[in-house]
Amino acid sequence: MEEKGSISIHTENIFPIIKKFLYSDYEIFLRELVSNAVDATQKLKRLASLGEFPEEVGDTQVVVSFNEKTKTISILDKGIGMTADEVKKYINQIAFSGATEFIEKYKDKAETQDIIGKFGLGFYSAFMVASKVELISRSFQKEAEAIRWECDGSTEFVLTNTVKKERGTEVILHMAEDSLEFLDKNRIKGILDKYCKFLPVEIVFDGSVINNTQPLWTKAPSELKDEDYLGFYKELYPFTEDPLFWIHLNVDYPFNLTGILYFPKIKKDIEPGRNKIQLYSRQVFITDEVKDVVPEYLMLLHGVLDSPDIPLNVSRSFLQADSNVKKINSHITKKVADKLQELFKSDRASFESKFADIGLFVKYGMLTDDKFYDRAKDFILLKNLDQKYFTLEEYQTHVKPLQTDKESQVIYLYAHDPARQDSFIAGARRNGYDVLLMDDVLDSHFVGLLERKLEKTQFKRVDSDPVHKLIPKQEEAHSLLSQTETEALKKRVEEVIQQKSYQVSVEPMPEDELPMSLVMPEFMRRMKEMAAGGGMAFMGTMPDTYQLIVNAHHPLIRQLVSQLADEKSAVKIQQLFDLALLGQGMLTGAALTGFIERSISLVGIENKSE
Ligand code: ADP
Repeated sequence: MEEKGSISIHTENIFPIIKKFLYSDYEIFLRELVSNAVDATQKLKRLASLGEFPEEVGDTQVVVSFNEKTKTISILDKGIGMTADEVKKYINQIAFSGATEFIEKYKDKAETQDIIGKFGLGFYSAFMVASKVELISRSFQKEAEAIRWECDGSTEFVLTNTVKKERGTEVILHMAEDSLEFLDKNRIKGILDKYCKFLPVEIVFDGSVINNTQPLWTKAPSELKDEDYLGFYKELYPFTEDPLFWIHLNVDYPFNLTGILYFPKIKKDIEPGRNKIQLYSRQVFITDEVKDVVPEYLMLLHGVLDSPDIPLNVSRSFLQADSNVKKINSHITKKVADKLQELFKSDRASFESKFADIGLFVKYGMLTDDKFYDRAKDFILLKNLDQKYFTLEEYQTHVKPLQTDKESQVIYLYAHDPARQDSFIAGARRNGYDVLLMDDVLDSHFVGLLERKLEKTQFKRVDSDPVHKLIPKQEEAHSLLSQTETEALKKRVEEVIQQKSYQVSVEPMPEDELPMSLVMPEFMRRMKEMAAGGGMAFMGTMPDTYQLIVNAHHPLIRQLVSQLADEKSAVKIQQLFDLALLGQGMLTGAALTGFIERSISLVGIENKSE
């Protein structure tokens, strides 16, 4: 037999178009051809297991090889093979009709990649790199004749009988001049490692098997031990620290999804690009851009997902709209929440010890996904400065008695930098208040979220007010200073400190609070943080508006009021002001030097008078 034919297609030559639009990554040709070889092998195995293939299946390795002299790459399998009719049907007709439809529909559109995967163009990806493709095949069927198909990338093909001893298919690519780079051992090895590492049939290249045919996610969780999961993690990401824990996904309805997600230890310098989640379809690597399939807040997880139900090689807009992708996304959310809940319930101490690492995921999830918030609100933990952890409910109970203000709001106090905020923290503690630690990047948003979700609860940073005003409990105390005294004091302080940006206010306060303190009101700080976070550029550049609060009832201040006319009052005011700056960690430069010198001389004066 020799048959020449012309592929019924209206476009003169489809291959330049395929080449241009099919895939952005030419290297994918190897994935497509090796996957076809694996599919053909598995079909044969299935037939054998059904008793429809009476012979010995024997060795089923797929062999990839290349030859620099003949400029060819070959993919050889021992699968079901194809008869001449099947080649006509599967290679000439179906694929080409797919290609025709493809071109008709999308020749004028830029987003051609959208529809790849909807058409059976896998085999034709060979023409992205080959100027001629030969396909030699012998069907598994008894007494089937071997055939040889050849096409040079035009719409003409040749189909002849040939001799082939073994069952199966060999595809030989005669590499195009602009694709000779692929005739390289390391290049081919690299591509196979990337896409074929977990294919279910052994792939041989350069004399050795390059894949693990039974990766862990394909096994039953009940058969696996912790060491297995840790070992597989190392296989995926060599030279990395052990993960904290993992989730083995295994769904077959209403979509098909298997996989293992690992929770890594979060380093300070998060590298989002590293150790990404890998997406597979029936053990063929597809991509590690899993956006849309995995909720954004879980992108820091590691591991693998495998689903034949995710459309392959499609653009983002298509993925987002896909209903399976949406279902998978919410399934993953649910599984992650369940796992965290289970850890929390079964071993709280261990959950707490991991919280530094997983807290960030959980907060991010709660912030971006209401459903996740509802699941996580029972196990999210707040940590106070004594390193104790509380659930939301426990914390409410813990602070309610002492930290409810006169409007029955429960005030949660927090510090983001305890070392710097120490004098404020000490003040709060003197009053028996508890202070939370809120020092990670998401906390300012997280605080806002909790205020929206929790009833009658408000957060205040510990340095946002003098301590007696943080949790106002009764009407303001009556000042012991007269109106005239108060005004004179305020004026004198303003004169001395010469800092127009600080708003000075004289207030009646408990005697044991500091004589002067600098605070930034909670709402001002949040405005600034919001502005810095987005959009309101004019706010971001606003100067910090601190308030200088003068404690009218502090003995030193009351003494000062009677000495305002005295020159020495300026030194005292300056000294108290510098101490207020110091309390906020804001005393630097010349002001710091001035303070040190003044303090030394103050010590000296005292010595003299002794
Ligand atoms: P798809 O794999 O998506 O169906 P392809 O263009 O890659 O599309 O292949 C078209 C068809 O050609 C396959 O469905 C299969 O029937 C047949 N085929 C391709 N490669 C082989 C092979 N190595 N062995 C047997 N049949 C094959």
